[in-house]
Parts: sequence; structure tokens; C-alpha cells
Amino acid sequence: MDAIQSYLPPHLIPQEASLDDLFVHSLPYQDPVEVVWRRRENYKQAGDLVKDALSLSLRALRSYHWEMDKDVLRPCSDCKDSSNHLKWEQVKTHRAKCRKIGTDPDDWTPKDLMQQ
Ligand SMILES: [Zn+2]
Repeated sequence: MDAIQSYLPPHLIPQEASLDDLFVHSLPYQDPVEVVWRRRENYKQAGDLVKDALSLSLRALRSYHWEMDKDVLRPCSDCKDSSNHLKWEQVKTHRAKCRKIGTDPDDWTPKDLMQQ
């Protein structure tokens, strides 16, 4: 939210909140009150935009597979080599299983997971 200049501390989001506030006074704008009003109006839309961007970024990252024979991470949207590609879901499942049985979820290698 800060990167797209839409951040507001939670106590300033309600329309009735006082704008005589340290955050408002610290904004480096000629009319910081106007900036707060603009951010209040755009807060939900900006929040949804940030959530969507993060969601799409994570989805893109999860489409990368670890190619075992070349020891490299590659985008793989249509995986046809499941015996050679370690996928995010395999790591996630393994880590959840480790947490459930009380073993270290970080103690593994790609080869360990491919052999399971
Ligand atoms: Zn793949």
C-alpha cells in the first residue's frame, strides 16, 4: 500500500477520524489532509489491487518447477515431466506432514521429495 502511495494507518481510515495526527503531519505533501481524503476514498480499491497482484505473483512463482537433472528452477505451466520436476505442492505437502509428525520441515533435499 505504501509503494502505491495509498497507505493509511488503521486509525485514520474512518471518515470521522481526526486528521490532527502525527502521520498526517509527516506526509511530505503541500496538502496532506487532501492526500488522506484521497487515500480514504481509494483504500479498498487499492487494497484489492495489492491483494490481486500478490496472488498473481505467488501463482506465477508456484508454476516454477525444480528440474532435477539440471538443478535449475524453470517456469513450467504445462508439466509433462513429473518424474524430473519437483513442484511447489510437493514441498508444501512434505512440510505440512513434517509439522504434523514433529520433524524438521526444512530438513530435506529435492531428491528426498522426488523419491517419496
Ligand atoms: Zn514441470
